[in-house]
Formats: sequence, structure tokens, C-alpha cells
Amino acid sequence: MYDEEDNFDGTVVVFQNVTDLMDAIQTRDRFVAEVSHEFRTPLTSIIGYLDVALEEDLDPIVRKFLNTSQRNAERLLGLVTSLLDSAANSSKVTVQEVNLARLVRNSAESVEVQTKKAGLSLQADLPDRMDAKADPVKMGQVVDNLLSNAIKYTPSGGSITVSLRQLGGVGGVDGGGEWAELVVRDTGFGMTAAERGKLFTNFYRTEHVRKAAIPGTGLGLAITQGFVRAHGGEILVSSEKDVGSTFTVRIPLCGPDA
Ligand code: ADP
Repeated sequence: MYDEEDNFDGTVVVFQNVTDLMDAIQTRDRFVAEVSHEFRTPLTSIIGYLDVALEEDLDPIVRKFLNTSQRNAERLLGLVTSLLDSAANSSKVTVQEVNLARLVRNSAESVEVQTKKAGLSLQADLPDRMDAKADPVKMGQVVDNLLSNAIKYTPSGGSITVSLRQLGGVGGVDGGGEWAELVVRDTGFGMTAAERGKLFTNFYRTEHVRKAAIPGTGLGLAITQGFVRAHGGEILVSSEKDVGSTFTVRIPLCGPDA
């Protein structure tokens, strides 16, 4: 502190005990993780038995009811799994040598049928190989989530492109190092600038997709962003309402710690 003549007049130090607050945050995270985990076992059993029941010779009305039950049980399981993922420590990655090109190719191939069914075209522009130090499970989830969003939020007749390239060396992102850049682009619903700002918040879903009753939890992108940041990377989005969206992920090729 300084007095009226601007002379030093002492120091005030304020301490605040935040132990209770930290405890409360930890308890909440543990609670979410435990509850989601406990929900999973009975739900898996319900889905399993519904599966078996649907193999029987059934009255069409009963079949319809069971189909609806099964669809909703699966949705609930998806929600619980997402909750568990978001409660899990997303800042911890286990890195190893990964061929990112193959990882993206596998993800693109596994959504081919789904894309065709939705009346969409999917184009992949990938190098033969791109080695990086990354967590293969978490990066796989990043790619899967961006592709599944592109499919869900693009009306029939639209197109999706996924590309991977190397940015690099001097003059690259942050002026150095080599980076992988993954881009998933769609010609879908898109979103307004205001919606774009809230996209990575837990449980946020745009009004359009809620009204259209497209299934989802609003957790995927928050989890995705956590995974990308844990790799020392960034995720960017550009989008225009009724035109389409582009999601860009950049991670350093030599891993988060380098
Ligand atoms: P979910 O897909 O389960 O709702 P996400 O966190 O993955 O959760 O996405 C949050 C919201 O962002 C979506 O509900 C949707 O409104 C919007 N969104 C995400 N990806 C796209 C996309 N490719 N095109 C248009 N909107 C999108």
C-alpha cells in the first residue's frame, strides 16, 4: 500500500483456505464417475435381455414397444458412457508412436456404411503415413466424434470431407516444430456465431438439433477439446448457419511434452 504522498506504507497479505472448495469439486467428480459406472452394469443387462427377447416370435405391437425400449436404453447407455468419459481425467494421455494417417483412415472406413445410409458422401484426403507421438485411443475418439457429428448434423445429399496434413518446421504453428492438422468439413446445418461460442461447453446443444430431436448429449465436443488440449494441441471451428461447419484439430507430432 502507498500513502497519499506515494510512499510505501506497508503490505496486506490475504490468505483464503480453499480446502473445502477443492474437496467439494473432487467429491462431485467422484460422484459423477461412480454413479455413471453403477448405471452401466444394469443397463447393459437390460439391453442384452431386450436383444434376446427381440429374437423371439413376437406380436408386432410388442416388438414395436421392445424396439423403442431398446433404442432408449442404448441412448441412456451412450449418455452414461459420455458422463464417465467427461469425469475421467481427460488431461492424462498415454502417448506412443502412432500412425495418424492409419488411425484416421480406420475411423473413416468404419463410418462408411452409416454415411451411405444417411445419403451422404464421404471423401478422405490422407497421406499414406504420418507418425506422431499420441494417445491412440483418445485421438481415435477425437476423430470418431468429429465424424459422427458431421454425419448427424448434415442433411441427406450433403458431403463430408476429412483430411490430414503435416504443418511444419520453421514458420509452422507457434513458429516451430511439426504439427498434424486434421480437418473435418461438412455441408450441414452449421451454426450461428453465438452458438459457435458455446460449442465446447458441457451439455450444450444448438436449438436446431434439439428441436429436430437428433440424439446426443452435448458432451462430445467438450471431451474432444479436453483430449486435444491434453496432447498440447488446439481445436478450432468455423461454421456458417445452413452452409456447413469445419472443425480443425492441430497437435504437435512429437507429443505433448516436447
Ligand atoms: P452431441 O453431438 O452429443 O449433441 P457434441 O458436444 O458433440 O454433442 O456437440 C454439441 C453440439 O454442437 C451439437 O448438439 C450440435 O448442436 C453442435 N454441432 C456439433 N458438431 C456439429 C456439426 N458438424 N454441424 C452442426 N452442428 C454441430
